[in-house]
Amino acid sequence: MLRDTAKTNPQSRTGGQLEYIGEWHSHPDGCSCAPSTRDIALFGWLAAHLGAMGQPALMAIVCQGGMSAWFVGSMEPGYRWEIGDDP
Ligand SMILES: [Zn+2]
Repeated sequence: MLRDTAKTNPQSRTGGQLEYIGEWHSHPDGCSCAPSTRDIALFGWLAAHLGAMGQPALMAIVCQGGMSAWFVGSMEPGYRWEIGDDP
């Protein structure tokens, strides 16, 4: 999924008021918040394109139970935060 076309670029659509910073999506119930192979590939694309603009890649994955995993700049351990209610 590419987000940098003139039609979907939030920066051009809002006269510079909004800027694209990353992606989020949800995983089906019963699946973890761990990134899939496709998520990792997309994050690499984000890192390359946003990195060229001096910005870190950002991805949020929402999963069952209101949990979410956030990745900023890298998908390596130490760059991941899980947020959600205690079980
Ligand atoms: Zn995913």
